[in-house]
Amino acid sequence: MKVHDGMYIDGAWRPAAGAGTIAVVNPATEEVIAEVPAGSAQDVDAAVRAARAAFPAWSATTPAERAARLAALRDALAARQDEIAATVTAELGAPPKLAHAVHAGLPVTVTGSYADLLATYPFEEKVGNSTVLLEAVGVVGAITPWNYPLHQLVAKVAPALAAGCTVVVKPAEETPLTARLFAECVDTAGFPPGVLNLVTGLGPVAGQALVEHEGVDLVSFTGSTAVGRRIGATAGGAVKRVALELGGKSASVILPGADLAKAVTTSVASVMSNSGQRCNAFTRVLVRADRYEEAVALAAEAVTAYRPGERLGPLVSAAQRDRVVAYVEKGVAEGARLVAGGPRPPLDRGYYVAPTVFADVTPDMTIAQEEIFGPVVAFLRYEDEEDALRIANGTVYGLAGAVWGEPGAAVAFARRMEAGQVDINGGRFNPLAPFGGYKQSGVGRELGAHGLAEYLHTKSLQF
Ligand code: NAD
Repeated sequence: MKVHDGMYIDGAWRPAAGAGTIAVVNPATEEVIAEVPAGSAQDVDAAVRAARAAFPAWSATTPAERAARLAALRDALAARQDEIAATVTAELGAPPKLAHAVHAGLPVTVTGSYADLLATYPFEEKVGNSTVLLEAVGVVGAITPWNYPLHQLVAKVAPALAAGCTVVVKPAEETPLTARLFAECVDTAGFPPGVLNLVTGLGPVAGQALVEHEGVDLVSFTGSTAVGRRIGATAGGAVKRVALELGGKSASVILPGADLAKAVTTSVASVMSNSGQRCNAFTRVLVRADRYEEAVALAAEAVTAYRPGERLGPLVSAAQRDRVVAYVEKGVAEGARLVAGGPRPPLDRGYYVAPTVFADVTPDMTIAQEEIFGPVVAFLRYEDEEDALRIANGTVYGLAGAVWGEPGAAVAFARRMEAGQVDINGGRFNPLAPFGGYKQSGVGRELGAHGLAEYLHTKSLQF
């Protein structure tokens, strides 16, 4: 076990103000692998002060200077990709291939995309007799979850730094080791002290202190809707900018004319990837009554490829495992038909949940309404397109979706979906496209130029 005793504040690793610690557990082995400091309000205050002090000079740099530092950060992340992947596997349980390609690889792409964007981004525009200036908002408080430990950090920090903001990050308690590696890469990349600060700690202590700190101008949060709602209320009370990336219950709608096998296997893969710990997973698959049983049989076959301990990793923690198992039990109790998997642990060690497929799920069931965040997919039956649309839009969430079918019909359907991003016939994830939700899935967008705009104020000068 490794004991880490510092937090990255004002360009150096400094001891925490208090003596509290957080244990980091490997969810595949259930062993404690490290300890990190549990930061207090005092640590958050030191980090925010450092960020405030660094803001005037950093926000006055040219886009080219910021691009050079972001390019250096991209290179530092790429140089340590193997180590980052191994760390994500150790603290999240992600299978090594996924950890390398997605968890460690995607952040390199996203960081690089902001270095590139700065070459052309219009920080100044002419509108009639006005010049519109886009200026950095100030100090950003970034609170991230554990499901993609590095991507969630980079999706906030890279655009914030590109905008000229300075940042204090509070990563999830479950995955602080990846966040520490990130801070080391920021250090290597030569950002001035105080531009990026890292405070590890508990959500209700360090996280809350960051949200409430009057030196923070914008709070960017990704995580549960319950915590997001509270953060939004606190930020609203202080009239602070806020961005929220929350839960999802995304529908994959299979229209007549779709390639059924591709639609089902891709939807199942989206729920099994990262053990279902994805806010944009296609957890509800909607199939017309005439092809429903065929689709369910394809899904039962498809999940056999996700063997726990191999292609399917564990859940991040015992608490998340218990939460997911409780949803599976609820699905059975409410009358859904269990086609594969179930509540029994598939392995005797580690926080694994069997890949689970439910059929005969109706829109009113708990497993059709609430975010499960595990390898559990629900198949729902629809009668016609209007019925499918009602079901697809019939949750409080609106993060993502998929439509499968003849391209014209699929796009027409997607336009009527209440969701921030919709994949048409298996369209690939695009790291430059805006990512974020309608309804209770959140406020604001991440990634690409839209993600950068979140961190900018608008000022107009009239001539
Ligand atoms: P959470 O919302 O409690 O935690 C996310 C982050 O918020 C962590 O860094 C946490 O320390 C911090 N936090 C917690 N309470 C806080 C507070 N009062 N003030 C400020 N910060 C606070 O999420 P969780 O408990 O880890 O997961 C619960 C559920 O949330 C999951 O099962 C899933 O449904 C959802 N979730 C969604 C995402 C996503 O990507 N949208 C990510 C993780 C979890």
